Amino acid sequence: MRVLIIEDDPAIAANLYDFLEARGHSVDAAADGLTALHLAVTHEFDGILLDLGLPGIDGIALCRKLREEAHLDTPILIVTARDTLDDKLKGFEHGADDYLVKPFALKEVEARLLALHKRHTGKLVSRTLQAGELTLDPKTLSIRFAGAAVKLPPKCIRLLERLMSEPGRVFGRRELETEVWGDTQESSDTLRSHMHILRRALIDAGGRDPIETVHGIGYRLRSDAT
Ligand code: CA
Repeated sequence: MRVLIIEDDPAIAANLYDFLEARGHSVDAAADGLTALHLAVTHEFDGILLDLGLPGIDGIALCRKLREEAHLDTPILIVTARDTLDDKLKGFEHGADDYLVKPFALKEVEARLLALHKRHTGKLVSRTLQAGELTLDPKTLSIRFAGAAVKLPPKCIRLLERLMSEPGRVFGRRELETEVWGDTQESSDTLRSHMHILRRALIDAGGRDPIETVHGIGYRLRSDAT
């Protein structure tokens, strides 16, 4: 596995680094948020170990940036001395996948990273989705339409991914809401506004709107989307 350690305590960082490297993993380390952010967007990692108490950008803020700004979906394992429920919830809320309280056993860190990685790769569709001139790589989340790269918020990517999984099929509003937002009762405006952002971004890329509104039912991707 390629692992990024984000930890400002040099002794803990060195411990993690040495252990993981000795176990055959390829390891990078950052002692502050900015370095971490730079490494995370310029290199590919299979897992990120994130300490919450960091100088500069706090770990929770960094977690949010990695998810929302850098659009990374790499599994994030938070390691921290804070053990209150609030901190755990905040971590999950901002995109962390798992949580380990210091002091921890190095073997457990590795086991959790491996488990997260396995779950993550199991979820990924191995092939790039394509419909006409529209492509979506579920691994990198990169999207291209009419020859141009398209940047989208995570929920819009999820919506597009679902529509692209079966071009031409009509997806009901409720079905899309449940799949993208889970069981939380979102107002119909949430889906509509995300659909608007998605379609606007695709049109701005230079192609014809590949999504059709099916009145009274939902949406579908035109099977000839170009
Ligand atoms: Ca720290």
